[in-house]
Amino acid sequence: MTAPFSAASVRAEFPIFRHHPDLVYLDNAATTHKPLAVLDAERHFYETANANVHRAAHRLGAAATDAFEGARHRIATHLNAAHVDEVLFTRGTTEAINLAANSWGRSQLRRGDVVLLSTLEHHANIVPWQLVAQEVGASVQAIPLDADGNLDLTAYHALLTSRVRLVGLTQCSNTTGVQPPLTEMISAAKQIGATVLIDGAQGIGHGGVDVQALGADFYAFSGHKVYAPTGIGVLWARRELLAQMPPWQGGGEMIERVSFAGTTFAEPPFRFEAGTPPIAQAIGLAAALNWLGEQDVSALMAHEIALRDRFEAGIAMLPDVHILSSHNSRGPISALRFDGIHPYDVAQFLDGYGVAVRVGQHCAGPLHQALGLDASLRVSFAAYNSEADVDTALAALAATLELLA
Ligand code: PMP
Repeated sequence: MTAPFSAASVRAEFPIFRHHPDLVYLDNAATTHKPLAVLDAERHFYETANANVHRAAHRLGAAATDAFEGARHRIATHLNAAHVDEVLFTRGTTEAINLAANSWGRSQLRRGDVVLLSTLEHHANIVPWQLVAQEVGASVQAIPLDADGNLDLTAYHALLTSRVRLVGLTQCSNTTGVQPPLTEMISAAKQIGATVLIDGAQGIGHGGVDVQALGADFYAFSGHKVYAPTGIGVLWARRELLAQMPPWQGGGEMIERVSFAGTTFAEPPFRFEAGTPPIAQAIGLAAALNWLGEQDVSALMAHEIALRDRFEAGIAMLPDVHILSSHNSRGPISALRFDGIHPYDVAQFLDGYGVAVRVGQHCAGPLHQALGLDASLRVSFAAYNSEADVDTALAALAATLELLA
């Protein structure tokens, strides 16, 4: 049953805050902390069912396989995937996009083709495409920003020519929090027959996704951004697409039959999962999604956005500091720049006050170039943050700016 949302009760479920009671953790876009339910699920697996999956003839192996494949089902349900075999386990978003680029991209892209990516993208949704494009003679083009920090939709429609084979978009910018209008953008891409990949790393924990309603072809995310362990992520892809995609890594588990005369490959999803998978981590991810499913998710999201708004209202009262984008469709992320002060200095002072934030380019170099910045300071909120966290951060920021001015 869903209990009414309470940030204080949520926080009590995260052991990290027992070890660091005064920590103001506002670096959730980098990684989230883990509730006891997730830590317990991993430990329970190792204590009661640890074995390799898909290969053992013994009962522990069967228990491990059941738990691991059960996790795949849980994830498929969470994404509203039409088929469980559309869920591929990876190490994270980065590996998921590398899988798409190396398998789909390398087999489909030809000389002269265009991969169209947004300026908001994380390096994980740029570099894998550049590597493949360079190899096959395709080019990578960028959808520019508008004055509000959103994507320039007029420019997007003009860039959508028949040469565009892939459109790659983030669900939510990991820097400014801007959420591009995916429905409209995906439908335009589909009209010209392009394949669409959505980077869900910053979306999965704040509203998630219904992949069937979304209408894209690929959706990638990392477990560690949604209260799950590191080392596990997912590439969801349409069944018809996966059926045509060649393997990208070779080894055990992904084959049907191997001989020196030639090898045949397993069906999806196993064709794309060479070697021993991250078993306990997948089980931890399923536990995290169960944990999230027990929350009042709309109240949780409203709480995160209210924290961001409280923070930004406080920022508006401070001198020499500006929010990078105040676009109205944004996740619980806020990025700042300062007049005459380097964000690194600010972040270091904030750490002295026990306030953890991120500083730098956040693996979004092209976005920072477009904004004419060499770095920004980012705060990002999660379910366990409180109004007191925001107020402490604002007071620390005010004191820091006074010192550094
Ligand atoms: N895309 C986005 C939007 C991200 O925020 C991140 C993580 N910073 C990634 C991709 C890469 O995720 P990972 O490092 O977990 O592979």
